[in-house]
Amino acid sequence: MDIRDRLERPLRDLRISVTDRCNFRCTYCMPREVFGRDFRFLARDDLLTFEEIARLARVFVAQGVEKIRLTGGEPLLRRDIERLVAMLAGVGGVDLTLTTNGSLLPTKAHALKAAGLRRVTVSLDALEDDVFKRLNDVDFPVARVLEGIEAAEEAGLTPIKINMVVRRGVNERSVLPMARHFRERGHVLRFIEYMDVGHTNGWRLDDVVPAGEIVEAIDAEMPLEPLSPNYPGEVANRWRYRDGSGEVGVIASVSEPFCGSCTRARVTADGTLYTCLFASAGRDLRGALRRGVGDEELAGLVRAVWRGRDDRYSELRTLASARDEKVEMSRIGG
Ligand code: SAM
Ligand code: SF4
Ligand code: SF4
Repeated sequence: MDIRDRLERPLRDLRISVTDRCNFRCTYCMPREVFGRDFRFLARDDLLTFEEIARLARVFVAQGVEKIRLTGGEPLLRRDIERLVAMLAGVGGVDLTLTTNGSLLPTKAHALKAAGLRRVTVSLDALEDDVFKRLNDVDFPVARVLEGIEAAEEAGLTPIKINMVVRRGVNERSVLPMARHFRERGHVLRFIEYMDVGHTNGWRLDDVVPAGEIVEAIDAEMPLEPLSPNYPGEVANRWRYRDGSGEVGVIASVSEPFCGSCTRARVTADGTLYTCLFASAGRDLRGALRRGVGDEELAGLVRAVWRGRDDRYSELRTLASARDEKVEMSRIGG
């Protein structure tokens, strides 16, 4: 790709992490050996306030951001998250969504919808309790996540997407049961290749199940055909069941990197702006917010960071870079 095209990628998509805490300990994201009792999570004062987040959101939207996704850690653990949702829904002109492990959706789905959330993505890696537990390292029943998905559907937080990270030797056998289950219910299941985000999950290339292999396995039982993207820069490759019963997506960030069309910025719960999921350093925005800078200055800061980016980690990934010290997934939010 021409360097000018790369630099001119627009900023369209913003992910805001609202907490670095989580009630799960997914082995590929927050391994318990690292994120145990002694781990120091962000303190309350470190977190951006809802007012600070809403102000940043307005500044980003003025720069062309069309879509905001709340994430974490587990975003539904942030107290009064519905109040933040209402504030962001008030920004206007933005597609507001949230990614969650689903555990708190049974109690929160209706309030989130009432506050103005449009849709949710729920992460679920298996339908079998024992496999689910091997991945998230807590004793949480799959049935409760499925209840959360139903609650989201009832509340109208649709269309619902389900994210499944596939890890070789752990949940690859769950691919077909998951595909069958969500095809019947009309939710879009998306398979995510296991990534070397952060530097604590002990990622190995051998643990990655390439998207092509996943598509092949599903196609053998439930024939598929490719679909074109919903919008330019969509990260999932879409596939339609030939019998018209819905679609699945694959996010092949390891086997088929898509850095050339990456239009996504990320802000962590403590207000650090990152221009790549695999970054090792970001730009502090909280300091600027708390120094009382005006919107114009904030916008200038964001523009300068975005213009200066030349990220293409996934295109350049090597086994050595996988071991680099990078920001953790639980901070940057996926
Ligand atoms: N806790 C929420 C959840 O799990 O949906 C939101 C935050 S989580 C970091 C966002 C997404 O990142 C989830 O769908 C999760 O499965 C995915 N994820 C986490 N670690 C990953 C990894 N190492 N490789 C690929 N996807 C990962
Ligand atoms: Fe928590 Fe989500 Fe990370 Fe799992 S993937 S540990 S649910 S933040
Ligand atoms: Fe975007 Fe970085 Fe992922 Fe490439 S590796 S698609 S630049 S976030």
